[in-house]
Amino acid sequence: MAFGWIDDQAEQRRRAGLVRTLRPRPADSPLLDLASNDYLGLARHPEVAEGAAEAARTWGGGSTGSRLVTGTTELHTELERELAGFCGFEAALVFSSGYAANLAAVTVLGPHGSLIVSDALNHASLIDGCRLARGTTQVVGHADPDAVRKALGTHEGPAVAVSDTVFSVDGDAAPLAAVAEACREHGAGLLVDDAHGLGVLGDGGRGAPYAAGLSGADDVVVTATLSKSLGSQGGVVLGPARVIDHLVNAARTFIFDTGLAPAAAGAALAALRLLRLEPGRAARAREVAAELHARLTAAGLEAVRPDAAVVSVRAPSPEQAVQWAADCRTAGLTVGCFRPPSVPDGISRLRLTARADLSGAEIERAVRVIGETRP
Ligand code: PMP
Repeated sequence: MAFGWIDDQAEQRRRAGLVRTLRPRPADSPLLDLASNDYLGLARHPEVAEGAAEAARTWGGGSTGSRLVTGTTELHTELERELAGFCGFEAALVFSSGYAANLAAVTVLGPHGSLIVSDALNHASLIDGCRLARGTTQVVGHADPDAVRKALGTHEGPAVAVSDTVFSVDGDAAPLAAVAEACREHGAGLLVDDAHGLGVLGDGGRGAPYAAGLSGADDVVVTATLSKSLGSQGGVVLGPARVIDHLVNAARTFIFDTGLAPAAAGAALAALRLLRLEPGRAARAREVAAELHARLTAAGLEAVRPDAAVVSVRAPSPEQAVQWAADCRTAGLTVGCFRPPSVPDGISRLRLTARADLSGAEIERAVRVIGETRP
């Protein structure tokens, strides 16, 4: 049978207790949410929802075509202008997802004959970008500027270093300024994915590159998603106009993809405007993360000190991690659960996200549930 081999894999997963399932989330879920990436609590903000609704009423349910044909509305260009302004870059280009933005940026900045130096713990979308790119990828040790420097020293010709700003599994931050210095010593570009930094790090949430003094640099390109802090859907590449123009002309996930849905652009724009008006949201998300970490540690749990809004708690085994997350759920709390093969280091974790809109009582309740259900 053509797809019979799939059954063998499914059986192996079942035996290992690693089957993934989809569970629809009710609109009025009574569960306390520490699993979503809605870091600023904006996804269901009335102004964000209205931004989406108004965009859909004006422009329709879909963007109707490639950005290069009919898929660019005034909303797209406005969003690009405002994102670039907020983050301090010359230009921006929005994509239908952060995944597509990363595939575009890596493939375009890592052409044939170039070297791509990639952090060992980069997000899957950057890894897939490296796989698709025509350049040669060299994977280097995690958060290690000297390893980046050494790799760049082995190559003549165009080169780019690629890294997450905040790593999605443990929530630790990359040493951005030091990596940028290593790149500059070799005349290489730097491409960073600020999916978990935008809205959380930097003045008012302007992102990790802004915090590191790299915004607007002519050798730095940033990708981000509109689906986390901005509570919408979609991705963006920020950088020098030269790079953005080149993406418009060369990036396959831009050219051959339907443009971002107007509702997503409208929601992201509304969220960005809220972020400008209420810059304290970013600092609050960081405060919640620090408080979560402190309370978990005081309860004797092994949690990684957060650099942004992700708090990672170690679990003894994949099976126990899955059970722990399930027990949390039964007790009224949703948490993320990372385990092999999503984590290449084999360490299973609960992954908690610190939303800016969590109250002190909710943080306390979350820590109590996690402590009481620990394996
Ligand atoms: N980069 C990182 C670091 C991410 O965590 C994610 C989302 N999981 C993405 C990129 C992809 O973004 P999107 O969900 O918008 O496709």
